[in-house]
Amino acid sequence: MLPKETLQRAREDLRRLVAIPSVSARGQGLSECARAVRSLLTEAGFETEIHTGEIGPFVVGEIGDGPLTVVVYNHYDVQPEEPVDLWHSAPFDMSERDGRWYGRGVADDKGEFVSRLEGWRLFRERNPRPLPFRLIWLVDGEEEIGSPSLETFLKTRFSGVKADICWWEYGEIDSSGRPIILCGFKGVMAVELRCRMARADLHSSLGAAFDNPLWRLAAATASLRDGSGRVLIDGFYDTVRQPTQPEQDLAAEPPFSFSSLVQATGGQRVLDGIDPDNFYAAMNFAPCMNVNGFSGGYAGEGAKTVLPAEGAVKIDFRLVPDQDPQHVVSLLRAHLDRHGFEDIELIVHDANVKPVRSSTDHWFIQDAKEHLERHFGRPVIVQPSSPASGTSHPFVDQLGASIAGIGLTHHGAMLHSPNENIIVAQFEAMIACSAEIFQRLSERANGIGSFGTSSTHGGTP
Ligand SMILES: [Zn+2]
Repeated sequence: MLPKETLQRAREDLRRLVAIPSVSARGQGLSECARAVRSLLTEAGFETEIHTGEIGPFVVGEIGDGPLTVVVYNHYDVQPEEPVDLWHSAPFDMSERDGRWYGRGVADDKGEFVSRLEGWRLFRERNPRPLPFRLIWLVDGEEEIGSPSLETFLKTRFSGVKADICWWEYGEIDSSGRPIILCGFKGVMAVELRCRMARADLHSSLGAAFDNPLWRLAAATASLRDGSGRVLIDGFYDTVRQPTQPEQDLAAEPPFSFSSLVQATGGQRVLDGIDPDNFYAAMNFAPCMNVNGFSGGYAGEGAKTVLPAEGAVKIDFRLVPDQDPQHVVSLLRAHLDRHGFEDIELIVHDANVKPVRSSTDHWFIQDAKEHLERHFGRPVIVQPSSPASGTSHPFVDQLGASIAGIGLTHHGAMLHSPNENIIVAQFEAMIACSAEIFQRLSERANGIGSFGTSSTHGGTP
């Protein structure tokens, strides 16, 4: 059980952060929220700084020194609150109903931040001695718009720094209350193909003589993938890293059934070759290509016989280690040219999020698993990779850290949607768990110190 004051203080801190509408998409409230985050970290004993980002500032807190370096990564920016009329209470005024707190950012990511911070305070109240490891707490103000300056910021501010762990901004809790530790994220590459073939839309009778941009885009798109989901671009799979045996073992036992996924999504047709035994491995390890939408010509009510002048299709790829989004862009261009689609323009909307998959056997993952199991009273799932993406690669590529997604984002948290919420009992459990994680890190660091090991990066203390 947490001391009563701890939960009260946590609630108050979270309520104050939620009340600042720090919407990065609108560039709103970011400096104010950064200052609030900074003062929380300062009060909690950190040396703090604020650094300018492209849109919103970064807040950095640092404390301690020793043989381990741990980065805690969070973000204080939030998604826009729209559509406001679907909220049951004011989005920036945190409210409680049925054991949950509601408000924009209560989960993503202010609640994750505050639960860790309160855990940290609890740990420090019990252990006020100098911290035997280096802790860097980085709070981003641009995560919800894709962290455009994170990579550069890490390069300049933390050049030469090596870290053991990056405690990622969130972790999940499934519908039955089991915590899920995420060890990786897929990369993203989002593009648009455009084709223009006339000065203006033409009478469709001219289709007897002239080609049609939507036909060409459909043909180009169809050339990219087969019915099993396999991408047909030459070289696309060349750099795909095979999952390790421990990763394969974890993926061989899906924590939820295929039928429950079908029920939850209403998905009606699976790719050729996907079955209840291998869908989870595909979600963890398979890259995929999605058509997001076609546009052009006439798609309004009734019929309008027209030969469109131009069209476009938006496509995204979810990539796995060690595919590089920029490289996939060049492979895609080469594929289009080779298949006679030189006239199709390729516009890159996003090719900056690289895939990451860290060791599921890392000692930090094993330690965290033990603490989560105790506080949540449920077996913990270690997931090799989320099927979704996050800008985690700079922590891995530059700092050499292992990624560990541990947190309280539950199945019904409604991230980015109206009525975003957290379950208060899970928030409390996460505070207690975080305190123990910091405690355990101290013990690990002291253990290494007493054995005189100087470098542990990537090792097993
Ligand atoms: Zn988010």
